Amino acid sequence: MSTKKSNKTLKIVQVALFAILIFCISNIAIAESRVIKVKSENKNLSKQINEIKNTNQKLNEENQKLQSSIDEKKSSYEEKMKNVKIAYLTFDDGPSKNTLDILKTLKEYNVKATFFVNGHEELTPLYKKIAEEGHALANHTYSHNYKTIYSSVNNFENDIKKLDNFLTQITGKEPTHVFRFPGGSNNTVSRKYGGKTIMKDIIKQMDKEGYVYFDWNVDSTDASAFRQNKDKIVSSVINQSKHTNKAVVLMHDLNPKTTTVQALPEIINGLKAQGFVFDVISKNSPQTQFIKVNNLK
Ligand SMILES: [Zn+2]
Repeated sequence: MSTKKSNKTLKIVQVALFAILIFCISNIAIAESRVIKVKSENKNLSKQINEIKNTNQKLNEENQKLQSSIDEKKSSYEEKMKNVKIAYLTFDDGPSKNTLDILKTLKEYNVKATFFVNGHEELTPLYKKIAEEGHALANHTYSHNYKTIYSSVNNFENDIKKLDNFLTQITGKEPTHVFRFPGGSNNTVSRKYGGKTIMKDIIKQMDKEGYVYFDWNVDSTDASAFRQNKDKIVSSVINQSKHTNKAVVLMHDLNPKTTTVQALPEIINGLKAQGFVFDVISKNSPQTQFIKVNNLK
């Protein structure tokens, strides 16, 4: 009896073990099939990653090609621009009694110029006319008073901004942030009022404020005499312009400077004969400066 019972128990244990074995085997099989699935998913993902990497590389290569073709075009454009002869006629200190005659000649010859003006409250319509006829109104300080503007950096900046506001009120246009120092950036008179470093200090401050200043490389010499000889003005401009492709011509729009007005047609014809075209000065124009702001930093 007891042998029989123990046989039965053994059988039950055997069945149970067998069941456990089947259970384990099936679980292993499931696990294995999962591993296989994950592996194949992994393989697919790796494939996709590789494809993305390849596409990325191709895009990078195309990008590099485009960039170098842009660089090439840019430098060939700059090279071409270097050889283009551009004259920037500039008139300082106006408006004046001569402004209308200057405008008339410029219109006749279809030439645009840059007027570095001061603040003359009584001549408001002239500023408007200059702007309406397509010329550039640029800043030559409101007062042009050396003692005032060169006593301190603040004084200079305030005087420039006073003229900016004055011009904006008249023309309704935003200031161009282009200016010219009375006396030029290399003047030494300013030291008398603001000390040795006043010009450097002003240049740095105005650069910080987003302004660009322009001196000149062609002097008409119309300021060298109360009323300069007309032929001397013409020959000065024509001779000095021979040495540059970008001529920034200094002239004056002041009551006594009637010979400048008379010289203007010959100046325009002479420059045209040398192959110059005419343009107005903007912040992006090639900078003609006696003192470079970058050298001061
Ligand atoms: Zn001036």
